[in-house]
Amino acid sequence: MNPDKKRTIAILGSTGSIGTQTLQVVDEHPELFEVYALTAGSRVEELAAQARKYKPDAVVIADESKYAQLKEALADLPVKVYAGNDAICQVVQSSPIDIVVTAMVGFAGLRPTVAAIKAGKAIALANKETLVVAGELITRLAAENKVPILPVDSEHSAIFQCLAGEPFDSIEKLILTASGGPFRSYTPEQLLTVTKAQALKHPNWSMGAKITIDSATMMNKGFEVIEAKWLFGIEAKDIEVVVHPQSVIHSMVQFKDGAVKAQLGTPDMRLPIMYALSYPQRLASSFGRLDFTKLNELTFEQPNMEIFPNLRHAYDALNMGGNMPCVVNAANEVCVAAFLADRIKFTDMPRIIERAMQSADFCQKPTLDDYIATDAEVRKMANNWI
Ligand code: NAD
Ligand code: MG
Repeated sequence: MNPDKKRTIAILGSTGSIGTQTLQVVDEHPELFEVYALTAGSRVEELAAQARKYKPDAVVIADESKYAQLKEALADLPVKVYAGNDAICQVVQSSPIDIVVTAMVGFAGLRPTVAAIKAGKAIALANKETLVVAGELITRLAAENKVPILPVDSEHSAIFQCLAGEPFDSIEKLILTASGGPFRSYTPEQLLTVTKAQALKHPNWSMGAKITIDSATMMNKGFEVIEAKWLFGIEAKDIEVVVHPQSVIHSMVQFKDGAVKAQLGTPDMRLPIMYALSYPQRLASSFGRLDFTKLNELTFEQPNMEIFPNLRHAYDALNMGGNMPCVVNAANEVCVAAFLADRIKFTDMPRIIERAMQSADFCQKPTLDDYIATDAEVRKMANNWI
């Protein structure tokens, strides 16, 4: 990277797990990165504190009822303060921005990502729901606007790193590793009574609540299969999931000569975030290092789609195509929120998602408006069942 020209970044969802770790990457190399815009859902105090430290040009709070509080908190700074989802879509288009880190959670990521791509911004994509919902549209827009979509998700960053220098037609399959989550070895009977507190304890990674529940149900891995298809242009049948409880191998690529490349590391999201921000370069980091002498064993097993049906639902949705992955995503967002509110059981989640897949109107070639309509329809439907 050219130290004379800093890379200017916007972080959508700056107060979350990925957002705050992105700011730690900026702290690691303040000579290379400049924060232009920060946006958050509703956490005003955290956003205001970040604005004080990083002095962005603009901040946006999605929750419009928090505007006055944010404006007041930043009254003595020359920062522009906005509120609402339309403002997020506007701000990402600002001309100084080079790269937009999409670190907000859920379907809310779709419209700002579309706006950023249309404005020619490189995307460091953490918000996998955007690719799950609208992978075809997003990858087509990115190609039309010649913008790169750089993976932040650790598995996809691993594959991206394994693919460096390898021609596309040399790929035989992608192997996504999965920790298996906290209930990996549970029986169906045991799963019936798991609590929110148990589901929120991920064995290896510390993440936001929604993705932590998605990891426990294996919906997250299903979403990552869909994400991999769109990022790398590989068909579902050539994307395999292997459970690897130690989370040391972040994912692998098998080539047509039988060679397998893997990327290994500590479970620290700052590395994939930094690689996305500095690509194609690697930057020095003070982050932890793997100590192979302390690794007792690396083990692998097949995922159990009978016990974790969400992984099957994701493959099925990907094979059906059209708006079906959008249906699964919307039903899943409703389910995760209801599970976190103690309104449904852990095992209700895959059942409600399956019912949504059977009930929603299918659309083979959805537009952005169709995705928005599908999302609204399925949310309404799933909420009625809960
Ligand atoms: P989080 O819950 O910790 O943070 C979410 C951020 O989004 C917060 O800043 C929140 O204020 C903001 N936000 C929430 N709702 C919003 C809305 N409606 N509009 C605008 N902003 C909103 O989540 P996270 O764990 O950082 O995950 C963020 C994204 O990154 C998710 O899509 C997740 O799947 C993906 N991801 C996370 C990890 C991880 O390690 N945390 C790893 C891989 C991928
Ligand atoms: Mg991941």
